[in-house]
Amino acid sequence: MLPKYDYDVIGVGFGPANIALAIGLAELENKMSCLFLEKNKGPSWQSNMLLPHSDIQNHPLRDLVTPRNPRSRFTFTNFLHEKGRLFEHLNLGMKFPFRTEYEQYVKWVAECFDDIVNYNTEVTEIRAVLDEHNSVPHYRVMTRGNECFTAKNIVVAPGRTPYIPMVFQDHKDDRIAHLTHYLPVLNRLNNSGELKHIVVVGGSQSAVEIALHLSDELPLTNISLVTRNYGLRMKDVSPFTGEVYFPEFVNRFFSADSNEKERLKRELHHTNYSSSDVDVLDELYQKMYLQKINGEQRLKLVNRAEIDSINCNESDITLNIISKHPNEMMRLQADFVICATGFTDLGVGEGKETHPNILDGLVSNFDFNDEGFLDVNLDYSLKPNKRSHSLGMCFLNGLCESSHGMGDAGSFSLLSLRAESIISAIISNDMPARGFSGNSAKIG
Ligand SMILES: Cc1cc2nc3c(=O)[nH]c(=O)nc-3n(C[C@H](O)[C@H](O)[C@H](O)COP(=O)(O)OP(=O)(O)OC[C@H]3O[C@@H](n4cnc5c(N)ncnc54)[C@H](O)[C@@H]3O)c2cc1C
Repeated sequence: MLPKYDYDVIGVGFGPANIALAIGLAELENKMSCLFLEKNKGPSWQSNMLLPHSDIQNHPLRDLVTPRNPRSRFTFTNFLHEKGRLFEHLNLGMKFPFRTEYEQYVKWVAECFDDIVNYNTEVTEIRAVLDEHNSVPHYRVMTRGNECFTAKNIVVAPGRTPYIPMVFQDHKDDRIAHLTHYLPVLNRLNNSGELKHIVVVGGSQSAVEIALHLSDELPLTNISLVTRNYGLRMKDVSPFTGEVYFPEFVNRFFSADSNEKERLKRELHHTNYSSSDVDVLDELYQKMYLQKINGEQRLKLVNRAEIDSINCNESDITLNIISKHPNEMMRLQADFVICATGFTDLGVGEGKETHPNILDGLVSNFDFNDEGFLDVNLDYSLKPNKRSHSLGMCFLNGLCESSHGMGDAGSFSLLSLRAESIISAIISNDMPARGFSGNSAKIG
């Protein structure tokens, strides 16, 4: 009997996670039919934060494919070779390439898959449905343009949900933006009037990069970097802690109990969060010092500060801040507030989500763990509950830091191996139906 769905696999989102998956599927000996749905107009990678001079945070060879298949034509090295820049790039002596160049690499790979990607296509709903004979359960994916696609398996990779602190959540004001919207909002506000004071909230790499960028772009604007911490911290870049981005760490973290997971998360937090690389910290410190010498301190760090409440009115946004150092209330008036406050993880409580919103219509088919959030297998598939046992597989690609550890969400490092895990799971699940031989499951 012919399958009653359009594709073997539909991928939701075509950022690095699903681009790595597309490469893996293309390098299979036995092809599967697949389609990727992407809401952006074309290929991109975190384009709203593409700041001049910023560099990437991962080893460039831990790209979209090298750790899985170093001989692939989609490696960063081959990109440089095909662009005729390999020797010049190596001559730069940069440990971490410019983000602009890496974005070009991501786009260059994505463009090779134009025939299997629908851009300008935002997925609004995913449901489990039966075919017209009520016999073959599969996934139905609906888009904002009311298109409908069906697939046996689905790989959900929309990127992590931006985290906006509670105090800002009730204020829908277009002068308050998460870092993932930074450049377009800055351009709009800057074009519509003078920006006298901008507040950047957070103590992350992005917060520091934004403060530096603002002070370059708008040298006459006052910029306050507001953080709960005493100082801006350096990333933990010890090679020993760097092993959290090894595949072995994923297995170790996944099999740890919840107490051990919490302990590891606390210990390893500053490998990626609330911390920055030393080059941008030095640059910021020196810039502030130079402004002090010249008697025009426009860049300020507001430390040990908790934003208690905010008021938005036509002329500006007032932030009421409890300063712990010394203990007093202070008030900042801003024309633009950027929340460089990170992303949510699967979990329960402030800054967590039990499932990504995009799965609202689907989650009743899957198990939740004892803590109350979606239960994920080691191969990134969700665990179907009893009534959904014959449904194809649904994977979370890039959203599993809570279960799989640091290397999962915030990094390129394991993208290609994660794609391999997902493809192997689809193949193993499909083998009897497709009559695959063991050999044909090999990825190039
Ligand atoms: C500013 C910034 C810099 C970073 N720099 C680095 C770095 O240097 N090195 C590193 O390892 N990691 C970095 N990261 C982490 C980075 O997020 C990941 O490395 C990588 O982008 C994750 O890929 P992804 O595909 O999971 O998510 P994303 O890159 O977020 O891609 C998700 C895609 O899904 C699409 N999408 C979302 N919802 C829908 C929908 N409903 N329908 C259709 N499409 C949808 C989005 O438009 C997007 O294209 C950075 C993150 C940020 C925010």
